[in-house]
Amino acid sequence: MPRLISRALAIGLLSLLAACATAPKVTKNTSKTFSTVVVDAGHGGKDNGAYRRFGGAEKIATLDVAQRLNRKLRESELKTVMTRSSDVFISLDERVAIENSQKDAIFVSIHFNDSRRRGIHGFETYYHSGDSFDLANQIQAKLMTIPHSANRGVHTANFRVLRLAYYPAVLVECGFLSNRSEGGQARDWEYRELLADRIAEAIVEQRYGPGVYRGSTQVAAQSQPASTGSDAAPAPAHH
Ligand SMILES: [Zn+2]
Repeated sequence: MPRLISRALAIGLLSLLAACATAPKVTKNTSKTFSTVVVDAGHGGKDNGAYRRFGGAEKIATLDVAQRLNRKLRESELKTVMTRSSDVFISLDERVAIENSQKDAIFVSIHFNDSRRRGIHGFETYYHSGDSFDLANQIQAKLMTIPHSANRGVHTANFRVLRLAYYPAVLVECGFLSNRSEGGQARDWEYRELLADRIAEAIVEQRYGPGVYRGSTQVAAQSQPASTGSDAAPAPAHH
């Protein structure tokens, strides 16, 4: 009997260790010292993410915003790593591994939202560790400077890419594809440029302080009124 018990204990301990191995042992607060931004375009390949008539496939919009964000961060002299730069499937664990293999990074995951209720709209930013809260707040605040934006708040979430991250990690929901207005905007490259610009501004200010970011905010902001008219004339098509 004692042998059986000790064996059961050993197996129990082993499985406990295996469970622990998937969670970060120590998290590192690089929220004000990071040198690299891991830019994660949600979904991809066989995983479309949300798919709605107004907004199209989420994986297309996330990749475009992520690529624009990547370029803006590089122009701001931050190092970047993209988890994907084309329409390919990357597992959540691979995304975490890419992040955790960097030196002094933060992780920013780009998504669009979906709801069965078409009226729901607005931005949400998610985080898991307390070290990620400032970054999440900063991004949400900058998104709120976009005209007609709705604030659905900063929230904690147990998403795998956030929970297993060694560094500060946030997930940004850039509006609802299921909403006529936000779904339409998600298809507009000028609006996606604006989203990327505000997220880049938040990241650069998080690292270097206010007023440092030199993005294409002006150009993007000027194009904004034409593409947000909610009940005015239909937005012009961009080719
Ligand atoms: Zn998503």
